[in-house]
Amino acid sequence: MDKCKAIAKQIRIDSVKMTNRAHSGHVGSMLSMAELIAVLYEKILNVDPKNPEMENRDRFLLSKGHAAAGVYSALAQKGFIPTEWLERYYCDDGKLMGHISHKLPGVEFSTGSLGHGLPVATGMAIAARYAKSDRRIFCMSSDGDMNEGSTWEAIMFAAQEKLSNLTLIIDYNRVQALGHSKDVIDLSDLKTRLEAFGWAVAEIDGHNVEEIYETLSKVPFDDKKPSAVIAYTVKCKGIPELEDTVKSHYKFVADEDLERVIKEIEEA
Ligand SMILES: [Mg+2]
Repeated sequence: MDKCKAIAKQIRIDSVKMTNRAHSGHVGSMLSMAELIAVLYEKILNVDPKNPEMENRDRFLLSKGHAAAGVYSALAQKGFIPTEWLERYYCDDGKLMGHISHKLPGVEFSTGSLGHGLPVATGMAIAARYAKSDRRIFCMSSDGDMNEGSTWEAIMFAAQEKLSNLTLIIDYNRVQALGHSKDVIDLSDLKTRLEAFGWAVAEIDGHNVEEIYETLSKVPFDDKKPSAVIAYTVKCKGIPELEDTVKSHYKFVADEDLERVIKEIEEA
């Protein structure tokens, strides 16, 4: 699992550098999911950078599209896109948009406004069933996504259709755009709520690569239910002064702090 830890570290370093260079936000959202993305791309997803359109590939949708830079780093490390593209992230002459775009190899669906990932993932899961394909659909959502009515429509529909090929991963960092989630729409006892809606649910430490791997390699948890993984994470994990803060949703690391922050991440 050392490789996963190294990939997660690189996701953090790339995300900090990319947002600094672009003077763009959402670094906290990228850093909370670094280990989850690393394990998905290294150990779980059946995808091939040499053949991004492979018919029976697993589908991964990032519903928290504002955290795109974290996935771009993973795609570059995996070989889907050239590493040089990261240097022009969110720049006028660059290929990498601030919110994730399906125009890039390895990206299935563009997102930005919350609440879109899971409904589309649910449709893809139905499509896979019609196609008699064993491909799996993974969707990563945020606290903000879990506030959206469209997400809960998909949760109900996926349970009704017994979509065991669908896995929802919630990057539950308990902070969203305008505040701590408990103060916006309280998501506490999310496991009970999802189970009541007919899902099989696991709770994990979203920064522990071994636990992430062990859990994701067991999906579906129930062959008649969709699976949900509630990953407890820390917003902006890796930059101590910004961890668990609302401002990390919008902030980027300033030039004068960049070298120190990168060094801290490298030595962590
Ligand atoms: Mg959040």
